[in-house]
Amino acid sequence: MSQEEAEGLIDATPSGMAHLSGTGPPGTVCEQCSFYGFHMQHPNSCYRYYLMVSEHGAAFPAETPSCKYFAPRNMGLATAEAQPAVTVEDLDW
Ligand code: SF4
Repeated sequence: MSQEEAEGLIDATPSGMAHLSGTGPPGTVCEQCSFYGFHMQHPNSCYRYYLMVSEHGAAFPAETPSCKYFAPRNMGLATAEAQPAVTVEDLDW
């Protein structure tokens, strides 16, 4: 990535994003990410940002191109991180 391209991504990234806008899967936007919006008070903020800095980030538009931490909503990956992985050995048969 050239310096010019990097500067373009930085300019296009609103405050409150977990990483640079446009570094996620092509064609995806934050609204489709499981980290977008949390609790009633932060419907347009990024939960991944909150996990990284322990502070609520600014609200930003749902149609913002996604970042590299994009996690599709239908897979529930945002909550999977907070839960320990369960193996067959962990199960009490
Ligand atoms: S793609 Fe997901 S993790 Fe990245 S800024 Fe948008 S809502 Fe946050």
